[in-house]
This record gives sequence, structure tokens and C-alpha cells, in this order.
Amino acid sequence: MKISGDYTGGNIKLLSVDGGTVKLEQELRGTTQWWFYWNFRVEGAQGKNLVFEFQNGEVVCPFGPAVSDDGYNWSFDGQSCYISGTSFKYSFSESEKIKYFAFSLPYQLAHFDNFFKTIANNPEVERKILTYSEQDREIPLVKIGCGTKNIIFTCRHHCCESTASYALEGLISSIVKEYSVLLDNYTFHIIPFVDIDGVENGDQGKDRAPHDHNRDYIENPIYNYTRAIYRYTENMPIAVFIDFHSPFKWGGLDNLPHIHFGPQPADKPELQLVFADNLYEIINQNPAPDTILYNNCRNDLFYGGPYNKVGTPSSKNYFALKKNVDMAFTIETPYSGNTVPYTVCSLQSWGRSIMSALYKTIATQ
Ligand SMILES: [Zn+2]
Repeated sequence: MKISGDYTGGNIKLLSVDGGTVKLEQELRGTTQWWFYWNFRVEGAQGKNLVFEFQNGEVVCPFGPAVSDDGYNWSFDGQSCYISGTSFKYSFSESEKIKYFAFSLPYQLAHFDNFFKTIANNPEVERKILTYSEQDREIPLVKIGCGTKNIIFTCRHHCCESTASYALEGLISSIVKEYSVLLDNYTFHIIPFVDIDGVENGDQGKDRAPHDHNRDYIENPIYNYTRAIYRYTENMPIAVFIDFHSPFKWGGLDNLPHIHFGPQPADKPELQLVFADNLYEIINQNPAPDTILYNNCRNDLFYGGPYNKVGTPSSKNYFALKKNVDMAFTIETPYSGNTVPYTVCSLQSWGRSIMSALYKTIATQ
């Protein structure tokens, strides 16, 4: 039997195997505080009943582990495996040679590459390279449309926040399919992997030392990405900036999506609240059992409030304060769900609703 995180996005430290009990822990790597991302596979455990016990904090969400047979197609089908916040069990069938387990639903560059194939032939869509990462990976940039007004979406400033990527997929396909009417007036610039090295290496990324990618919007940034986005947007008039994240692991506020509002521009102070109201209305029109619900009254965090401090050198604050963007904020998509676990489909649908709310907001401007 082999247990490892030795693949794209993998992250595990195997501590011991004693009979049917496996002790392990997430690797924090360059992260300066406790965090919870892990992603590993088990090979050659056919017919075994194993219990996996994490040794560094509660990192198994109440829906159990995300599971996959191929390391690509993931779901929260492991609820019956759940034992506690620190452990889960799994019974391998006689034919189950390999199984993947993770904290949430991973999303790697391979997912994006395959998704991109579905829109690549659209003449409005162009894939470029923003710059190269510290480990010489391409940081992709997708441009859609040819309008003079610009909308920027970024994702994975914190590399482990993978559910946000599935939402972004839904949003991008919605631009092309449902809201192409915008593309004469607007250009969308989408950066799906800010910290692509962290995404592919399987890092935590949050609070990465000496500071993480979403604290690099300073005078002399340390990351190639930040220098490149400064150059790329230097003379660009920007209407909207949205940064896609995931919050803390689970529980309370972190079980429901929420918005971290940016500083409000003097000339359009209400605009991001209009967006939030539109999103609430769209989500709650006729929700299905698996619809990812959004409650704009309960969960949104205003600039200057808790977890949204004034003066933080984050992307949304940079674009709001330095680039005079009409509407700049962060959308937090939780890792696993609330009453029902998230699926790839429900996350994509959530992303489409975000785009519908944005359309409704800017179409009336
Ligand atoms: Zn984040």
C-alpha cells in the first residue's frame, strides 16, 4: 500500500501506518499560521478497511472527505466515511486499486485547460500569458470581448481556495453564452490562477511567508504576478474588479457565501450593494435543493469591519483606491456547503448567478 501526495495539487505528510490506522497531517509548507488543505491518494489498499487520523487539528469537514477515482473528477461522496473533524474511514473494494481524498474539491490547471477548450473557438475569446511565475509557469489570462470598459476577475490569490475556481468556470461560460451582448461595450480580463505555483504544488498559500499574494499590492511587490498586473492595468479604465476566494474551513459565516465589500467610490457608493441585492434576488427566485444560497443581510462584510480591515494591501483595496474602480470586492465561496454538500454543478451554477447579478447591475448603469 502506498499513501502519497506526490502528484499535481497533492499535499500530505504520512506519519505512520499501524494495522488499519493511518496517521497523517497536512503540510503547511510556507504558510505562517495553521491551515487545513490536504489532498492525497491511496494505492494498493484493495479490500482493506482503513481509518485516517489527522494529527494537526480538525481538517475533515462535516461532509467527510472529497473523493475521486482519478484525481480529476471530485465529489463529496464521502459523507458516510466521516468519523470526526480529525478522522474518516474508508472501505476499499477488492477492485479499488487507487482512491483520492481531499479537504475540498480540487481544481488544477488541467481542469481549466479542459474547460477552456469549450470556449476556445469563440471569436470573442483570447487566451494569453500575463507573465511567468517564480517557478516559470505560465500565468494564464483570458480576454473576452472588445469593449472600452474593462472588467477584471482574479482567482486563487490563495491557492488552496479551489471551489472559487468552479464558480469562475460557471461565470465565464455565462459571459459567452448568456451575456455576449455585453462584449461590444466591455472587455473581460480573467486571471484564473494568481498563485499558479501554489495551485499546482498543492500549497496552502494563505498567509504564505513573508506575505501572501493578496497582501502584495504594495509599492514594491515581491511576486511576478503583482508586477505584471500593475503593468497590465496601468492605463486601463476599469469598471469592475472581483476577486474570487474561499473563506475559513467551515462553520458559521464560513458555511455561506459572502462578499467582502471594497471601499466605496465617492461617485457610486451604492453600486456594490446593488450588486449584492441583485445576487440575493436571483439566487432566491426559485432555488433548487442544491442551490448555493446567498443571504446579503447576514453574511456580507463591510470595508472597515471584521476580516476586512482598512489599509490591507489586498487586490480589491488596490483596485478600489488606486485604480478608481466603480465596484471592487471579493466573493467568498465556501469549501464544502451548508445543508447539502457542494458539487461541481452547483458551484458552476453559483458562478452563473454571480454573472447574472453583475449583468443586471451594470446594464442599468
Ligand atoms: Zn482567500
